Amino acid sequence: MKFAERVRRVAPSAIRDLLRHGADPEIISFGGGYPDPALFPMAELRGIYAELLAGDPVVLQYCPSDGLPALRAQVATRLRRDGIDRTADDVLIIQGAQQGLDLAAKLVLDPGDAVVTENPTFLGALIAFNPFEPVYAPVRTDADGMDTDDLERVLAATPRARLLYTVPDFQNPTGVTMSLPRRRRLIELADEYDLLVVEDTPYRALRYDGAHLPTLKSLDAGGRVVHLGSFSKILAPGMRLGWAVADGEVLEKLALLKLAADTQSSTLNMAATSSYLDRYDIDAHIATMCRSYRDKRDLLLTTLRETFPETVEYTTPDGGLFTWLTFPASFDTTAFMRDVALPDARVAYVPGATFFPTTPEHNHARLNFSGLTEERITQGVIRLSKYLPR
Ligand code: PMP
Repeated sequence: MKFAERVRRVAPSAIRDLLRHGADPEIISFGGGYPDPALFPMAELRGIYAELLAGDPVVLQYCPSDGLPALRAQVATRLRRDGIDRTADDVLIIQGAQQGLDLAAKLVLDPGDAVVTENPTFLGALIAFNPFEPVYAPVRTDADGMDTDDLERVLAATPRARLLYTVPDFQNPTGVTMSLPRRRRLIELADEYDLLVVEDTPYRALRYDGAHLPTLKSLDAGGRVVHLGSFSKILAPGMRLGWAVADGEVLEKLALLKLAADTQSSTLNMAATSSYLDRYDIDAHIATMCRSYRDKRDLLLTTLRETFPETVEYTTPDGGLFTWLTFPASFDTTAFMRDVALPDARVAYVPGATFFPTTPEHNHARLNFSGLTEERITQGVIRLSKYLPR
């Protein structure tokens, strides 16, 4: 079969194969990015789905492609509380933030256009963008997020930059958060270079420490930010629901692309989510999740501090699900996982190389702390530390 040119860029990664071994229950895996399923509100959702399916069959009917009006209004209310002054009309319900990445790329990228990203960046975004055949322009990223001085340099050198992708809050994979001065500067530069900014915020509500920072969307006077959010980490990822907020023509075109892609998100899941938001206090549920994940983060960081060599650095995330390790430059985390961590320590993580859009750095690892029990977090770090060179 002759495939389209764009499919050249659709390929499984070697690291995915390596991570398959992490599914063995004997192996303690820090590799996932999953929320803790023990925290899914099962009883509440069981009741809601039963009731919906005993009632009006409209919940199994097609519905408007932009999403159920009630849910759009509920999302808009939550956004207003977060400083994004919008109404239901500004909200497009999508199948998770992941769909927003696909739609935004489809909206602005021609083959050879450049996507500007944090370095490293979310692998799922690269996978979503790749079929549109972009080149990548990675920007230096540190404890305060994307470095806007480096962004300025990159933009001056990248005439075909069209889309800027960022995860400002508790980034995947590094866990870092973009500072307020950098948020403001990013918006200025995006205006100057006429970029579409994709602000991806699936972890935003999972803050454990520190001050709440404004979204890029709330700073976006020029209407060039597509703000993506998700119910995956605050309710349940299997329901596949998220939202996109954008302005004018950008929102209109995104809605048409959504219609073309999948007609609409699941009516039943939208109705269930809307009903959940109506009846239950999702902020109390989020607070419960935050307490659990904060404890796990603290345990992971404390155990790393107590057992790992001092030459290994790690980020201290104020929220989200990940910390990012940096080993000495000569240490290759992919080879170590294959040769030592999996067969001997029986521990998995995600080798960092996979998150770099252009030039991989081999001495990093992403560790997830939400999907493991506290006992396995401690055991996993201790086991791994025993095999590290000193
Ligand atoms: N963006 C980031 C940064 C993510 O980490 C994820 C999932 N882990 C997504 C988007 C996609 O999430 P979903 O489609 O489930 O909302």
